[in-house]
Amino acid sequence: MAFFTKKKTAPGASPADVRAAKDPAQGKRSIPGVRNVVAVASGKGGVGKSTISANLAVALARTGARVGLLDADIYGPSVPTLFRLKGHRLTGEDGMILPAEAHGLKIVSIGFLLEDDSPVIWRGPMLMKALEQFLHGTKWGELDYLVIDLPPGTGDVQISLVQMTPVAGAVVVTTPQDLALIDVKKAVRMFEKVGVPILGVVENMSYFLCPHCAGRSEIFGHGGARKACAEMGLRFLGEVPLQMALREASDAGEPLAAAAPDEPAARAIAKAAADAAAALAALDILTPEPVTPEPGQTPEPGRS
Ligand code: ADP
Repeated sequence: MAFFTKKKTAPGASPADVRAAKDPAQGKRSIPGVRNVVAVASGKGGVGKSTISANLAVALARTGARVGLLDADIYGPSVPTLFRLKGHRLTGEDGMILPAEAHGLKIVSIGFLLEDDSPVIWRGPMLMKALEQFLHGTKWGELDYLVIDLPPGTGDVQISLVQMTPVAGAVVVTTPQDLALIDVKKAVRMFEKVGVPILGVVENMSYFLCPHCAGRSEIFGHGGARKACAEMGLRFLGEVPLQMALREASDAGEPLAAAAPDEPAARAIAKAAADAAAALAALDILTPEPVTPEPGQTPEPGRS
């Protein structure tokens, strides 16, 4: 945990930077070099949020984008397993964390700080400090997307994240059952309240694809997320089947999006990634950069 005790400040950091690093509520700072922070959230645990985050990140990288993945799921960090990085420990350079690299991604996981099987009892300030360092104290370099795998639900980590850095958009993962969908609505409302645009909703475990007969069974019902999206005016990013190949690849530490991109689950995730990226691009167009008047130019009426 050496990273948490370092008092060192980046060269050239202003007193405001130091204050913001100490008290996230005081300043929302963008991450130098990182163009879009994309949060992946779910209303509840076990819906496949980490699996989708990891494969979304790989799918984006396969399109040529520069992508980082930050695993902030304190309750069950699974990114080390998903990328065969179990046992990896954080290293640093110049007082900054160096991300691990796998499948073309830069990766930092809260799991890199934890001993295997140790209970995770993070007290608030400790956890927030870790998140702050993962965001602003890591050498992410130039990234088009930093994908953040959030813990399930609508707790402190979600709120702290949006207080610490601008979040360009959120992808919400759910399964088709009513119970999961009720929690999705809570997650969506939370992001709306804090001003983070929802890029869309992915329905995971949408149907079971039998590896023997390729038959399709709708174990958890069907169409729930699509319907909920229509009701809430959200983009539906598609249906990812429950597929044995996805579970096997995940356990083997080889994301399916890289190991077998033509498998139905990998294709569905790649489509969701492309649609989410398009939604982000559309937001960029709709939110023009503020215009700075030329020296001596009179601002237009109504503009300040
Ligand atoms: P969460 O992050 O929401 O808690 P995980 O991503 O850890 O959920 O997924 C829980 C389990 O379900 C993992 O074993 C994972 O491999 C498996 N899983 C997730 N999505 C699928 C899917 N579409 N097909 C097969 N297995 C899946």
